[in-house]
Amino acid sequence: MRNEYDVVVIGAGSIGVPLSYFLGKKGFKSLVIDSKASPGQGSNKAAIGGIRATHSSPAKIIIGLKSLDIFRNWEQETGDDIEYYQGGYAFITYQEEDRKSLKELIKFQQQFGLKIDFYEKDEILKIIPALNSEGLLGGTYSPEDGSASPLLSIESFYKNARKYGVEFRFNEKVESFNTKDGKIESVKTDRGTYYGKIFVNAAGGDAARVADLAGVKIPVMPDSHEGGVTEPVSRFVEPMIVDIKPEKGSKNFYFYQHKTGQIIFCLTPDPPIWGDDTRETSSFLPLVARRMVKVMPKLHYIRVRRTWRGLYPMTPDGNPIVGYKGYSNFFQLVGMCGQGFMLGPGLGYYISEYLEGKKYEEIETILKEFDPDRKFEAEELLK
Ligand SMILES: Cc1cc2nc3c(=O)[nH]c(=O)nc-3n(C[C@H](O)[C@H](O)[C@H](O)COP(=O)(O)OP(=O)(O)OC[C@H]3O[C@@H](n4cnc5c(N)ncnc54)[C@H](O)[C@@H]3O)c2cc1C
Repeated sequence: MRNEYDVVVIGAGSIGVPLSYFLGKKGFKSLVIDSKASPGQGSNKAAIGGIRATHSSPAKIIIGLKSLDIFRNWEQETGDDIEYYQGGYAFITYQEEDRKSLKELIKFQQQFGLKIDFYEKDEILKIIPALNSEGLLGGTYSPEDGSASPLLSIESFYKNARKYGVEFRFNEKVESFNTKDGKIESVKTDRGTYYGKIFVNAAGGDAARVADLAGVKIPVMPDSHEGGVTEPVSRFVEPMIVDIKPEKGSKNFYFYQHKTGQIIFCLTPDPPIWGDDTRETSSFLPLVARRMVKVMPKLHYIRVRRTWRGLYPMTPDGNPIVGYKGYSNFFQLVGMCGQGFMLGPGLGYYISEYLEGKKYEEIETILKEFDPDRKFEAEELLK
């Protein structure tokens, strides 16, 4: 007997697992295939857990708002604690030009009803007293953004997807596609062949390689970023703090205090480190620690427990790729860059609606902005 599914999802990561949850909830017969041993073993487990709706593009704002809604209500809906914490986000600035661009961006964000404002130095210090006040010009603060544990979240999405009948196959690598009459008919792994009506590429940093197996070209290139975590301490900082000022060796960096007390941090290397090497470097911690202590001197007293390195599945314009490409039933849900964890649930929700045949304004905005055939010219401001 053939293994037949409505939807076959390739990749049990930040994107594939929440999507499968919503597909399962709608009654689709779905299969998720991953080459690794359990859900979230790709980039998902490297994410530090930031979730925001305060983006600079309409589609990301729409998805971000939906994701926040899902994360916020998750425990109530499923009974699972994913360590969601609504501490907000703050983009702080020590440079006049950043202050100007953040103020400009806020006007756009407020049009979407996002709760965000710019706070001058004295006001932002009331919100984040531990900030270094020397040279501080102020910052944005959006109290409705937050954070959650990427590990607990994916585990819970996985568990609940299975409750709705979604099947998962781990330790199986997708190796080829069989096509017929302009459609993908089945996917072949090293252990079996699976037939489906729709195939979703959610392969993260490997998305271009997976698409290529069907002869489809998509511009997703992984680059590596490192993160780290400290010992837990009593709460002393509420929002995720993002410093967008570039310095030698790095662009922005960001950190927050997790619900359980640890400071979790990350940095964008400059120049980018292309490729899929995930071995930690010895240069990351001294670089990020220096920058963090500069903006928040108190951090000097907290011990770092561990660092790690993972991949951002990057696209040329820093925006995801969402839509059919190459074959009328080959859906791309890829190129999440540094935001796949926060986009996953919202995107999963809207795309499950779309695959069910629905099309409304939010879905149209997402499909238009993230069209696989766009020119990739614009660059997202806060990617
Ligand atoms: C240090 C760091 C910090 C980050 N912090 C944040 C953050 O705070 N907030 C945020 O939103 N994002 C963050 N990110 C980004 C986020 O981790 C990624 O955008 C996201 O995980 C990508 O999701 P994905 O589902 O596309 O890929 P993944 O989660 O990597 O899932 C893809 C899956 O596809 C599988 N796969 C690939 N090829 C095949 C194949 N041939 N056959 C079968 N399976 C296959 C892989 O094994 C993998 O499990 C961070 C990333 C890093 C590295």
